[in-house]
Amino acid sequence: MVLIDYHVHVVGHGEYKFNRQRLQAYIQQARETNLSEIGLLEHDEYWQQIDFDLIKHIQQDNPDINIRCGLEMDYFPGQEKTMHSIISSAPWDYLIGSVHFIDGWGFDHPDYKDEFECSEIDSLYDQYYNLIVQTVDSGLFDIIGHLDLIKIWGHNPIKKAACAYAEPVLKKIKASGVVVEINSAGLRKPVKEIYPSQEIMEQMFRLNIPVTLGSDAHNPEQVGDELEKCVELLKKIGYRSMICFERRKHRVIPLDL
Ligand SMILES: [Zn+2]
Ligand SMILES: [Zn+2]
Repeated sequence: MVLIDYHVHVVGHGEYKFNRQRLQAYIQQARETNLSEIGLLEHDEYWQQIDFDLIKHIQQDNPDINIRCGLEMDYFPGQEKTMHSIISSAPWDYLIGSVHFIDGWGFDHPDYKDEFECSEIDSLYDQYYNLIVQTVDSGLFDIIGHLDLIKIWGHNPIKKAACAYAEPVLKKIKASGVVVEINSAGLRKPVKEIYPSQEIMEQMFRLNIPVTLGSDAHNPEQVGDELEKCVELLKKIGYRSMICFERRKHRVIPLDL
């Protein structure tokens, strides 16, 4: 089995330093979990803490693991100019577009999850996927992160199945050529499911939408977490390959050597 982890936050939510010692701990865990490639991926608000020279040195010290550097950008409608200027400021290997906010509400943050109790879940699913459609349409990103994050606390829509809400965006994704991330972090959240769900992955496979892999690690111990489970599921569905990136050029790699 070939494993890569393209969703690794070194500075977390700004509480940690991007330094040699911390980076080396991530690489060590990548080695222990048999990753051939690790993708460092900060949230856009911390991008200036990334030390590209240090990454170069760490790569020289660890030639057995490819180190890539991407950015997880929050998609906010109307902010394309700001996003574009960050994108053109550094030599990114890949860009992940994610939605963590609906009208300024950080729905995936544990402090604000009670908001779900006074909202209509179907309408939230509509609003969320509408933002994902705009993220794809922006043309700024190589990958869509944790596609069905709206399920994080285990809330299900009533009027339609959750996967039916994702259908229109999958068609957009197919047309745009964007890759979808298979993200294991949902297994560590109350929903206890990979992002996206098996039903959505099956729809993706039928549409021939390419995938990549990420753990959404916010500390070294989470690097590579549950990625084997993701690959097992992908293979069960029919997937035989995934995508990795270097300087925004993609390459297809087999799930099994
Ligand atoms: Zn995220
Ligand atoms: Zn993340």
